[in-house]
Amino acid sequence: MELSRRGFVAQGAAIVSGAICNKPEAFSKPNIRKTVSRPLIISTWPFGEVANKKAMEVINSGGSSLDAVEKGINVTENDKENTSVGIGGLPNSEGVVQLDACIMHGPGHKAGSVMGIERIRNPISVARKIMEHTRHVQLVGKGAQEFALSQGFTKENILTEKSKRKWLKWKKNNQKKRPEGSIDNHDTIALLMLDEGGNLTGGCSTSGLAFKLPGRVGDSPIIGSGLYVDNEVGAAGATGVGENVLRHCCSFMIVEFMRQGLSPQDACIKAIKRAAKIDPLGMDLNIFFIAVDKKGRYGAAGTGKGFQYSVTTPKQSGILDSAALSDIDAGPVGGNEFNN
Ligand code: ASP
Repeated sequence: MELSRRGFVAQGAAIVSGAICNKPEAFSKPNIRKTVSRPLIISTWPFGEVANKKAMEVINSGGSSLDAVEKGINVTENDKENTSVGIGGLPNSEGVVQLDACIMHGPGHKAGSVMGIERIRNPISVARKIMEHTRHVQLVGKGAQEFALSQGFTKENILTEKSKRKWLKWKKNNQKKRPEGSIDNHDTIALLMLDEGGNLTGGCSTSGLAFKLPGRVGDSPIIGSGLYVDNEVGAAGATGVGENVLRHCCSFMIVEFMRQGLSPQDACIKAIKRAAKIDPLGMDLNIFFIAVDKKGRYGAAGTGKGFQYSVTTPKQSGILDSAALSDIDAGPVGGNEFNN
């Protein structure tokens, strides 16, 4: 299945905004990128690049890696034109924007997560507060909002006119269709960072699947599904149909494959193949991943073409095509254990 969304993704096109060139690669062979200079920041989609750059700025001005990941993702959350993250996110079927986010910090294996929060534009910042100021990992809905208010966040209308118009149009035309399964209505920022000290931190933020059922939670705020960080090994993050990422715990699986020695890209490929093999949807799962390991290698893969990710280091920044399973021969990657 091909991925087509938001105009900025031209299939197979090279988009280069820095010195990292977007070369088509021989994905049937193991692809191991060289270790790069740190901090290394990677994120989903071309819109992640400005978030990466903000994260780099935060580090350069003395901030911590947690500050960098949070403030980087805040850029995407605050972008009203982005209809899949933060303010401006597309609402649920009732016209209410419900946001999901999580954050993980390698040292101490810490995590915080917020789900279905309403009227608060920066869920990644709420997730960080949950991680740092409560004994819990996850808060949901009303309780999450009350906690955010107690921490100084302000309630505001986060449904923009643009998103409201899209919702009204959907209501008029498509109401009877199931919102799940549409690939045009969702994108997520997952941002992963390997800092100068070799520690890993990651975050993930989304408004989820557009026009979802009220209360629906996808993969993005679920530790191990939309995001996973293991400071000994690496980190992985997801975008795509959350239900399909969730059912296979994909980010955790990718980190485990890196632990077994696979490169980040091959770990992403192997996780997709494993999920597709047992899932009736097969290669129609519509799931996409980025990953980085402790050595500074990074990569990405998705079920179909068109997924791009942003990579930023102190020396360069750019947007790369991910590996697409539709371009790779059907054999297993890194062993044949799943064929037995
Ligand atoms: N994974 C997100 C969700 O299902 C949406 C996306 O990344 O496009 O909530």
